[in-house]
Amino acid sequence: MSFLDPLIHLQASIIIGILAILSYRLRLLDPRGIIASIPVGYIIYVFGGPHYFILLIAFYSVSGLATRFRIKRIGVDVLDKDWIRSWRNVVANGATAASISLLSAFTGDRGSSILLAAYLGAVGTSFADTLATELGLLYPHNPRLITSMKKVPRGTPGGVSPYGYAGGVLALLILATLSTLMRLSSVRILGILLASGMIGMTADSILGATIQAKYRCPRCGKLTENSTHCGEKAEKVSGTTLIDTHMVNLISTIIGASTASILALT
Ligand SMILES: [Zn+2]
Repeated sequence: MSFLDPLIHLQASIIIGILAILSYRLRLLDPRGIIASIPVGYIIYVFGGPHYFILLIAFYSVSGLATRFRIKRIGVDVLDKDWIRSWRNVVANGATAASISLLSAFTGDRGSSILLAAYLGAVGTSFADTLATELGLLYPHNPRLITSMKKVPRGTPGGVSPYGYAGGVLALLILATLSTLMRLSSVRILGILLASGMIGMTADSILGATIQAKYRCPRCGKLTENSTHCGEKAEKVSGTTLIDTHMVNLISTIIGASTASILALT
C-alpha cells in the first residue's frame, strides 16, 4: 500500500490512537512522550509500511516490559534512570527510523535492501541498547567501563557487562525472528542486522564513556548523567554539555543505520 492510499492513513490513525491510549494507561510514556510518539509512529507506519511499524512496536513494547521487570527487581530510584519514557527518549530512538521510512517512500524503493538494512540498523541499535541497559542493571556485579575496562558503579554511562551484551543479542534476535516471520529479510540482511546492532550498541557505550556529559551532585556527591540532582543544579565533571544520554542514543542509531547501509552496499 502506498502512502497516497487513504486507507493506510486511516489504519495508521486508528492503530496509533489505540496505542497512544494504551501507553498512557500503562504509563509507558509521559504525556509529552505520547505526543512526540504520534508523529514518529505515523511517519513510520505510513511511509515505511506496517512491517516497519511492527518492528518498532516490538522494540517499544519489549523495552517497556523490560523496564517494568527491572523496577520490580531493583526499584525505581536506584540509578536516576527515568522509568516513564519522555519525549526526548522517543525522539532519540525514533528520529533516525522515521527519517529512513520517509526516504524509502520518496525514493520509491521501499523494498530496497539498503534502506531496509538501514532501518533495521537504527531500530536494532535502539532496541539492543535499551535491553542491554535494562538487563545490565540486573547484573549482580559492577560493570566495567568499555574504554578502560575498570570497574564502575552500576548505571555509569559506558559501563558494560555480560548481562548487558546478552540483552543486546536478545533484542537483535527478536527483530531477526520478526523480520523472518514477515518475510522481510534475507539471511544476508539478518547478518547485517546483528552486526550493525552490535556495532551501534557498542558505539553507544563508547560515546557514553567519553563525550557524554557527567555531573556531580553538590548535595549528595553522587556522580550522575543528569544535570540536576537532589533538586539542585549539578556540577559538570567531564564530557560535553550538549551531549546527554539522549543525544548519545541518537548518534548511535545514526551509526547503526550507516553501518548497516554500508554493509548492504558492499
Ligand atoms: Zn544528589
